[in-house]
Amino acid sequence: MAWYPGAERHNIPPGPTDPPIHPRIICVHTMAGSIEGADRRFRDGSGVEAHFGNPMDDRPIWQWRDTLYQADAQAAGNGYCLSVEHEDGGDPSRPLTPAQIRKDLDLFAWLGQEHTIPMRLVQATSEWGIGWHRQFPEWNPHNHSCPGDVRLAQLRTELLPALQGDDVSVADVIAALKDPDGIRALRKALWGGAGDEIPSVAGTLNAAQTVEVAANGVRTLANRLNEVGGEVHQAKTTLDAGIVLQLAPDQLHALAEALAPLVAAKLEIAGHPAMVGTVQLAAEAPPT
Ligand SMILES: [Zn+2]
Repeated sequence: MAWYPGAERHNIPPGPTDPPIHPRIICVHTMAGSIEGADRRFRDGSGVEAHFGNPMDDRPIWQWRDTLYQADAQAAGNGYCLSVEHEDGGDPSRPLTPAQIRKDLDLFAWLGQEHTIPMRLVQATSEWGIGWHRQFPEWNPHNHSCPGDVRLAQLRTELLPALQGDDVSVADVIAALKDPDGIRALRKALWGGAGDEIPSVAGTLNAAQTVEVAANGVRTLANRLNEVGGEVHQAKTTLDAGIVLQLAPDQLHALAEALAPLVAAKLEIAGHPAMVGTVQLAAEAPPT
């Protein structure tokens, strides 16, 4: 269940054609009418509806549908879009009111948090972000002009800059890294695209150089760790040798005791009473 805390609920429960969804794009619409008219249309059994409606006056956002279920407002986009309708009094060329802008900012920010949607315009239907109804033909088979040029311009020049602020949010980064186009955009931002280095300000590193420096640092550290590993191995070998060389006298004696019969056996003089317990070798034969 996901209901916007700032909304007035006008629940239209999902029907058999409204399956659960994982929303990733906020789709902006205009109503070509009043919010009451939209509400009547959404309840007339035609199976068309939106998730949200934003009245022109100070009344709160209306929410018709839980954001975890599909609403049918943008054709092939219904499986991943959250639809936000805007009241326009029947005239889509009328700009969004200041109250609508203010309410959109709160709603979009909440949707961004709730569904990890970045505050950026999408360039393709596969992306995460904000779009508008007529943006892609597959969302707009009936060739509507929705949301109209005036309101679309406001999305670009008023809503989006206010939503983006100066910060890159965690949601922005996660979304970019999930998305091949986002990764391409990051690469382009760092390396400037096809053969195009981003110029650095004199005396500073540009982003690409900073990344290279960091990567070199990691490689140097890895090499140093390898060297230290070799030194540790060498030290252990020396230590092992030292343990043998530095046996205490009683340990040396015990070792000699243990070795003597083995040496004697090797020299085929096992059992010779004179040999047991000594390190005398065969070359030193008993005097005749
Ligand atoms: Zn629309």
